[in-house]
This record gives sequence, structure tokens and C-alpha cells, in this order.
Amino acid sequence: MIADRMKVMLGASSAIRAMFEEGKKIAKIYGKENVYDFSLGNPSVPAPQKVKESFIDVIEHTDDITLHGYMNNSGFESVRESIAESINKKFGTAFSCKNIVMTVGAAGGLNVVLRAILNPDDEVIMIAPFFGEYLNYVANSFGKSVIVPPNPPTFQPDLEAFEKALTNRTKAVIINTPNNPTGVVYSEETLKKLSEILDKKSKENKQAIYLISDEPYRELAYDGVEVPYVTKYYANTIVGYSYSKSLSLPGERIGYLVIPDEAEDFENLASACNVATRILGFVNAPSLQQLVIQKCLDETSDISVYDKNRELLYNSLTEYGFECIKPQGAFYLFVKCPIDETQFVEKAKQLRLLLVGGKSFACEGYVRLAYCVSYDTVVNSLPQFKQLAKETLNK
Ligand code: PLP
Repeated sequence: MIADRMKVMLGASSAIRAMFEEGKKIAKIYGKENVYDFSLGNPSVPAPQKVKESFIDVIEHTDDITLHGYMNNSGFESVRESIAESINKKFGTAFSCKNIVMTVGAAGGLNVVLRAILNPDDEVIMIAPFFGEYLNYVANSFGKSVIVPPNPPTFQPDLEAFEKALTNRTKAVIINTPNNPTGVVYSEETLKKLSEILDKKSKENKQAIYLISDEPYRELAYDGVEVPYVTKYYANTIVGYSYSKSLSLPGERIGYLVIPDEAEDFENLASACNVATRILGFVNAPSLQQLVIQKCLDETSDISVYDKNRELLYNSLTEYGFECIKPQGAFYLFVKCPIDETQFVEKAKQLRLLLVGGKSFACEGYVRLAYCVSYDTVVNSLPQFKQLAKETLNK
């Protein structure tokens, strides 16, 4: 018999599986090209050519023991040093290898840091809408999730509601900018104010509140928008980065944590992340991928492809009468449902449009469209969206 908490998780994920199965069924009837699947955040742009070349180069020119062996649980020192230098060059920071822990993607990094800092029932704040897996990650480390309600239509955090959510059990706050599912980039002003609130509350609690900045979409920003580097505003920031989206490598499972010297209890925190990497069973981030990304630190996938999809979808959907904020980053559009969310998702499905309901992101009454699909898929889906508008708007 499986654990009770796993039964709950199976129940939740079967809804997603059901949607996936439904998509396959519709594809069998209408043909795959006639199903417009906007449900998954799987990059549709290939990794840069340099990534492929680097895989070959690393395999051919690294000795086997280094390439395939165990290492420091935090990762290769030279890779961590290169990453630190690259961040310093971009953001004027002063990190070195001791501030970097290589991780198994952003998911691995979040689980590592939460395991490192949480005592049972410590509270972790998340600002809706957010990536639903955070709830599971916090539960994995026996913490308690506390949700700050969404703040439409801008989806910048409601700072008053945020302040109210903080208690003397608050151990961490997770933010994600550019955001999944809204595509919103938190402004510098928002981050400064949020930091002031956290400073004040940490002093009151006589204990640090860590700000975990989950940044898999950092490089996916459009119209020249700046994504502020959060360690500049708040000393107790831990950054979680991933190459899943920026280099289109989600299956390769590679990312890193940044733990600044200024973070409270730095030495222990960095050591705890090192140990958590080991005891969670990762042991270390994959060695080949570490060496590959070291050679690709200035590369990103061609995000102009997502940008083109973004423009077309946003302009068309708003023209049809749907309400949504124009995303500044990531590859998601978060659209307000003109009718009940479940009915809207169902009606969309009947039109062969696969969307994810806002409930999955703690924000009922919206749907998320992942526009990391081909341009043709976007173009061909537009008559269906027009029909969806006809059937659901002003009802
Ligand atoms: N955080 C957010 C906001 C995400 O959207 C995702 C994946 O979609 C992750 C973390 C996990 O990413 P990774 O593949 O790097 O583990």
C-alpha cells in the first residue's frame, strides 16, 4: 500500500494525465496537426548549435575518470567558478565558486534549499499565481505552504497582502520572475519594497527569512525588459537558476543555486545545500551537463521564436475580446475565463485547444497557454480561439 500523502498527489496528477490522454484521443480522431496543445511548458526551440558541439567536445576531450566520476556534491569547482564569473560580469556581483551549488534543474535546486532550511511546520510563502509544484516541494521537506492571493490585472505581488501573510514561523518566500504562469516580470520597485518588508519582519522575528528567487525564465524576457537581480536588494536571497528553458535542455536536468556570502549563516547554509544534494539522492548534478554548460554560458536559445508567438497570440486574443496582461517574459499567456474555469477549459477542449486551468496555479478563473509551440500551431489555432470567444464572451 502506498503512503497516504502519495495518494493525494496521485489524485492531483491524474487530472493532468487525463488531459494528456484526452489530447491523444482527440489527435487520433482529428489528426495531430489539428490539436492545438498549449498545455506544456516544454521548449519548442532547439538548443543552440554550440550545445551540441560542446557535448561532443567534452566527451572527446575530457578524461573518463573526471567525466564519469563522483565529485564534490556541489559540483565541479571550475564549473562553479565559471558560473560565478559569468554572473559577476552580467550583474556586477562578487560571487566565487563557494557561492554556487550545481543542481538537477530548478526543481532539484528548490528541493535542496528547502531541505536545507526547513524545520517541520516552518512556513513558506508563495505568491499566487505560482508553479503548482512548489506545494509539493515544500511538503517534501515537511514545511507549510502559505499562499498570498493573486493581484490581477497586473499580477505584481499585492504587498499589503504579502506583509499580512508573514508570521513568526515564516522561514522562506518563493518568488518566480519572469513568472509562470503570467509572464509578468516583477519590477525593481516591487522587489525593493518586498525586500524592505522582509528585512523588517526578519528583525522582528530575530531570524532570517530567506527569499528564494526561482529563475528558470530569466533569459526569456522581451521588449528589452530588465529582469532585476534579486541579491542586490535583499541579503538573504538564494537564487535558483536552470538551463531547462534558456538552453532548451529540460531533459538534461542542469541548473545551480547562488548562495551569497551575505546570507545569514552562510557557511552552514552552503554546507547544508551540499549535504541535501547528496541525501536527496541527487549526489551531484550530472557531470557531462555541468561541463557542457560551462562552455555555453553566453548562449541562449533563439527566443525571437517565442516572441513572435507572443505577439500574434496576445494581439489576436485581445482583439477577439479576451482579457490578459501582455507577458514580458517566459512563454506563457494567462487569460481570464469569461465563464466558469472548468467549463471554459472543457469548451476549449471541444475546439481542440488544450489549456491548463488557473486552479493549478492557485488562481481560479484563468487559463494558461504555453506558447512554446510552432508558429504554425499558433496561426492555425486562431480560428478556434475566435470561435471560443464567440461561444463564451458576453454569456
Ligand atoms: N520553476 C518554474 C517556475 C517552472 O516553470 C519550472 C518548470 O517548468 C521549474 C521550476 C522546474 O524547472 P527545471 O526543469 O529546471 O527543474
